[in-house]
Amino acid sequence: MASDGGARAAERLDFPSAHHKNGQLNPALVFPMKFAIFGDIHANLEALQAVLADSQAQGCANYVCLGDIVGYAANPVECLEIVRSMNCPVVRGNHDEGAASNSSLEELNPLAQRALLWTRDQLADEQRQWLRDLKLVRQVRDFTVVHATLDSPGSWGYVTNRFDAMASFSYQFTQVCFYGHTHVPRIFEKDDTVRGLRGDEVHLHRGVKYFINVGSVGQPRDGDWRSAYAVYDVQAQTVQVRRVEYDLPATQGKILEAGLPSLLAERLSLGK
Ligand code: ZN
Repeated sequence: MASDGGARAAERLDFPSAHHKNGQLNPALVFPMKFAIFGDIHANLEALQAVLADSQAQGCANYVCLGDIVGYAANPVECLEIVRSMNCPVVRGNHDEGAASNSSLEELNPLAQRALLWTRDQLADEQRQWLRDLKLVRQVRDFTVVHATLDSPGSWGYVTNRFDAMASFSYQFTQVCFYGHTHVPRIFEKDDTVRGLRGDEVHLHRGVKYFINVGSVGQPRDGDWRSAYAVYDVQAQTVQVRRVEYDLPATQGKILEAGLPSLLAERLSLGK
């Protein structure tokens, strides 16, 4: 059952406050200029801590979570409590839904099923309720966030190419939307046509829409094992996907220790 491990893990992270230690206001934090957009944490505590430390070093004062906080790795309680303690907008992912429900999970692959059945046992009823209450789509300031797709957010389809992106763009009423679910960072833009962009950074242009996959904190699948998340700099009008190293052996050790499938540990080294 739930321990207070999550609360302790959250305490160790010193979240940015608008005040310096000497009592003076820090303007970078008073005016929210940089957002850290992160998701697909999948109970990987070391990865989450590394991403949050990096985002603080980047001067991010605002956070938005794209869901799939739990599932796959061995620290669902700790990750859930950290995200909850951040009091930031969060949308629900398919693994959050699977962990929160009592459904058969037959639509998921066997590895995901085993991990979610284990995860259900770790979470308290109240934590599962918190996951159940998360919304599928949210607007944060002038941008939108969703876990999977905007055209059918509860069906958990994957946006992997420009045709999938087109379907989401037709339901996107803000200039920028951030999403996850594929665990592969990707930037799509739409003016008279929809294109996938190369690279991990984009300067936002007026009159152009962007549908941006920020990658995965806890289980990247683009062949790079390092955690991924995005920094949205509101003033500079840029979005950058960043990669962050974390204590991979520690995460893998915990997965094996918990009796979760060893493949879940192995795939983390491969970024698959
Ligand atoms: Zn995921």
